[in-house]
Amino acid sequence: MLHSGKTALVTGSTSGIGKAIAEAFAAEGANVVLNGLVKPGEDEALLAEFRDKYEGKIGFSDANLTDPEAIEGLMGYVARDFGGADILVNNAGVQHVSPIEDFPVSKWDLIIALNLSSAFHTTRMAISGMKEKGWGRIINTASAHALVASPYKVAYVAAKHGIAGMTKTVALEGAQHGVRCNAICPGYVHTPLVDAQIGDTAKARGMSEDEVVKDVILAAQPTKEFVTVEQVAAMAVFLTSPGGDQINGAMMQMDGGWVAQ
Ligand code: NAD
Repeated sequence: MLHSGKTALVTGSTSGIGKAIAEAFAAEGANVVLNGLVKPGEDEALLAEFRDKYEGKIGFSDANLTDPEAIEGLMGYVARDFGGADILVNNAGVQHVSPIEDFPVSKWDLIIALNLSSAFHTTRMAISGMKEKGWGRIINTASAHALVASPYKVAYVAAKHGIAGMTKTVALEGAQHGVRCNAICPGYVHTPLVDAQIGDTAKARGMSEDEVVKDVILAAQPTKEFVTVEQVAAMAVFLTSPGGDQINGAMMQMDGGWVAQ
């Protein structure tokens, strides 16, 4: 298997895209560290689900990634129990939809801390180990919103554009040490994050939820189809395979042609 003996840390992997990426790396034989915010008991259920299906060692941390100290705790756990992350997927993220004049300051702070700064902290703590081993793969789940904007998503678009800059910088710093850093830029993927956004966008735009799906969400994607979590996971695995060795600092668009317009 592609990743036997390697460890993948996937942040925000209790649902949606992150969970699919974690499953794809586990299916390639990697040890996987899961992370996310959970209700009591959900962590045991998730661990049992992964341990039943996959051969590698599976760990979990409920570190709240808006808190740099909690991130230090997570990275310490991965170093101690797994020998560090060979593959780091910075995926945890949230959204808030509102015109800028009403955008709650607390939501701005949350989204910048989680969607942008947490990737800085995990990366700064993981990259030395990768350089020492001479191999490491960092994948940032960015978004089409790392490349283009939409109204009412100021914090998300700012954070994702920031992730694009960080991806390119880290790619340059790791280039001669066997470390690669790339971003995946999906369009709309049907996950709990998008479900929540449909309601918020309907309110912000004064539209029905059906109109939001048809005229706002799928209107942006020329294929008129959602991206699937499995497609994003397949891209993540490809970026860590030998075929991806010279892909570095790239924004891998998976948006049915959205940003080509
Ligand atoms: P999701 O809501 O299904 O999953 C989000 C994950 O982040 C969950 O595991 C959750 O527990 C975790 N999380 C939330 N707050 C956290 C915190 N403070 N600390 C630690 N973990 C936390 O969302 P998703 O749609 O799978 O999104 C995953 C990533 O993909 C995000 O970065 C998002 O911006 C990006 N993305 C999503 C879409 C889409 O259409 N769904 C499109 C492009 C990019």
